[in-house]
Amino acid sequence: MAGRMKRQPNIAIFPGTFDPPTNGHLDILRRGVKLFDQVVVAVGQNPEKEPLFPVQERLDMLGELTADMRNVRIAAYQGLTMDFARKARARAILRGIRDGTDLYYELQQANANLMVGDVETVFLLANDEYILTSSTLIKQIVEMGGPDIDRLLRLVPASVVKRLRNRLLGTTRR
Ligand code: ADP
Repeated sequence: MAGRMKRQPNIAIFPGTFDPPTNGHLDILRRGVKLFDQVVVAVGQNPEKEPLFPVQERLDMLGELTADMRNVRIAAYQGLTMDFARKARARAILRGIRDGTDLYYELQQANANLMVGDVETVFLLANDEYILTSSTLIKQIVEMGGPDIDRLLRLVPASVVKRLRNRLLGTTRR
């Protein structure tokens, strides 16, 4: 066809374990969709982590939490993030940085993804409200019967707290 070429959509993948998704993840996602035409939340397998929730349940949770967000897609992938990025025709990998430990780890990953996979990584700094929020910490708090549910709701969506209690404590009671 003569004339202008159609612009390719500017897609990012937001890969992670999301075991379970937290308000910190959602904050990065909400900010990420302002920068890209589409963000694909990609549930991957981190060989260093033994997940609490099966992949399908993590996909379900993410689907529920992003139901009102246009330009978000949820997917699962196996293998290398750089390969999934290419399959999804993504221009960039989106990641959040909370602290120096995240940064150190992420620099290595981003460098490999650029040098080997030719994929850029875009980092967003964690909102200070969520800088100490991690899926691991939240699982520990629920498991040890931590603070009442209302306080956890600052860190994790209500539907996720419910699933955490079900899975870790076998109850939905308060
Ligand atoms: P992974 O196992 O790949 O690190 P995670 O689910 O732990 O997967 O994290 C996915 C992405 O979300 C990472 O970039 C991580 O830094 C980011 N992230 C996790 N928790 C937060 C948070 N509280 N604030 C901002 N970013 C976060």
